[in-house]
Amino acid sequence: PAEAKSHSPSGPTANDAFTSALNTLVLEREIRDGVRAGQFEMHYQPIVRLSSRRLAGFEALMRWRHPHRGMVPPVEFIPVAEASGLISELTAFALAEAGRVLPEFMLAAMRNLSWIENQLFMSVNVSGHDLAAASFPQLIADLIARTGIEPDRLKIEVTESMLMRDPERAAAALAECRLTGLGVAIDDFGTGYSSLSYLSTLPITTLKIDRAFVRTLLTDRTSRRIVQTILRLADDLEIPVVAEGIEQVEEADLLTEMGCALGQGYLFGKPMPLDSSIATTRSWAALAPTKQRARI
Ligand code: C2E
Ligand code: MG
Ligand code: MG
Ligand code: MG
Repeated sequence: PAEAKSHSPSGPTANDAFTSALNTLVLEREIRDGVRAGQFEMHYQPIVRLSSRRLAGFEALMRWRHPHRGMVPPVEFIPVAEASGLISELTAFALAEAGRVLPEFMLAAMRNLSWIENQLFMSVNVSGHDLAAASFPQLIADLIARTGIEPDRLKIEVTESMLMRDPERAAAALAECRLTGLGVAIDDFGTGYSSLSYLSTLPITTLKIDRAFVRTLLTDRTSRRIVQTILRLADDLEIPVVAEGIEQVEEADLLTEMGCALGQGYLFGKPMPLDSSIATTRSWAALAPTKQRARI
């Protein structure tokens, strides 16, 4: 079979290590060139207020339109970009795009469409590498000054595992970012090993429950308990929770009942280019929980 060719029967060899190092170098070079050639673009996934099923905001997710490889998913290039330091260029691009499109999203919201909240937010993923850069808070401050966006409409998402690599430095960097007024979300929450006492020292404004717990929510009691615990914790911290990876209406309804404020997932919409992302939100009125449906 064709697949067997790429695997040596005796496991990883020095040759495999060489091939993978070479691939990384090629990829690094291609990312660098790709940034200049404008091959990177942002897609936007809707985030929905679960109680009303109205659009509350978007998460910006990066895509690489590679001339030969097609759409390259972030799992394939973000780690390479992080290891090589190229991530700072990608993050600067993502933030600049957020600053550029947020006013367009806000216009849609101001048209007072019933399925869109009056204020929308935009969430941008940043890496630990970005946070560690001394210039990062200034980058944020400049963006806010240049675009005139309200800082609380912009959120950065940092994964729990990134924070745990250098917790003290991360806490200091986040605190500095918070001074500009922007929101801070902990991404993939529940999969890292942060302690409650550490978490309470962070200036967080949102927790995002990892998709792994949502995927098993309907079938696994442990998942349900973990979600309950996270919701209680967020309630104590007085911050909203976003459940990631909602694919079924039953998951959305259960999370609504459990008191989760916000949801995101293929049920509501996949990450899409700017043009399509607002247009598709219209179909959600039909997804509203029975009690609310009449009001929308
Ligand atoms: P994330 O920030 O946790 O983003 C959520 C991921 O889950 C996205 O994958 C999204 O497409 C996917 N997703 C959302 N809803 C569903 C669902 O209902 N079902 C399933 N199966 N998947 C769903 P994506 O876009 O491939 O991004 C993967 C990860 O790459 C992100 O995880 C984030 O950590 C990273 N990433 C993406 N864009 C950027 C970026 O601009 N900068 C940085 N630093 N990291 C990024
Ligand atoms: Mg409105
Ligand atoms: Mg994220
Ligand atoms: Mg996540």
